[in-house]
Amino acid sequence: MSSWDHEVYRLPAEVIDRGDRFGAKCGAGKCAELPTHAVRWTYITGRSGRVSYTVRRVCTGHGERFAVKHHLTVGDPRPEQPSQYTAALEAFGLGVAGPVQHVRVYLSRSAQWYLQKHRAGGGLLATSNQWLPGVRGAEPLARAIVEAETVLAQTTLVPAAPWQHPTSNEACVDVAPAWRTDGWFFQPWRLRIACNDAGMWQLTRTLDQLFQPQVTDLGDHNMTVERAVKVADDLLQRQRWVPSNSDWSTYPDGTAEQDAWHPDQVDPSTWQNAPHAGDNSGSTDSEGAA
Ligand SMILES: [Zn+2]
Repeated sequence: MSSWDHEVYRLPAEVIDRGDRFGAKCGAGKCAELPTHAVRWTYITGRSGRVSYTVRRVCTGHGERFAVKHHLTVGDPRPEQPSQYTAALEAFGLGVAGPVQHVRVYLSRSAQWYLQKHRAGGGLLATSNQWLPGVRGAEPLARAIVEAETVLAQTTLVPAAPWQHPTSNEACVDVAPAWRTDGWFFQPWRLRIACNDAGMWQLTRTLDQLFQPQVTDLGDHNMTVERAVKVADDLLQRQRWVPSNSDWSTYPDGTAEQDAWHPDQVDPSTWQNAPHAGDNSGSTDSEGAA
């Protein structure tokens, strides 16, 4: 017997719905049906003799055939498992380092400007260095700072205080998510739902033209604007965003728009900190692929 511990169970409704929106296909051969079930079995891997397992998402027909073949009862949906990597980190009490909290701009020995990012969280410290190709080494610190702020804006980070200038070749500053700082704390985000040229429906969240918007794919299969709005509403509710209107404005070109607040902008604990922006504790990662 080369495989054992066969199992079959239904997928949660939200997983089936997501599969439908992204055109997922049954994992059995060339079947093109929508996956509604998962099948799982354990086996020995090749010559190394290690025990391994496979999980495959399959359609109703293939799921039921698998059940009959292996004399199984189809099980109830089970929650999605966190990845083994995440589970291992949690087991050892380690979190992934948090958001960027402090940055430094400096001129390297090879006469190029770099942006150094520091993050801390969950007992980890992490530092990364990023070349700033938009500014030449001969250019002054002030130009490098402008370039660094442009790069930071791509992740909606802004300086939370004036830059500190220890030397002419480097400067550093604490940074914070823009929506937690004076300039944008009281400004709602503009939300837009639209279908792009590739046929993908997307939710775009824009705090200001200065910043790269947050874009989330909603689906490119069996979609309508009504379905896109429903998916976006569920996502926003899960992430605790607060709409400023009860309804989306819909337009003849098939787009929908609405204003909303980031959870940090309505959470009383961040209100106490506002407009002081140095505190980066708490969740600022709201991207969460659904
Ligand atoms: Zn199938």
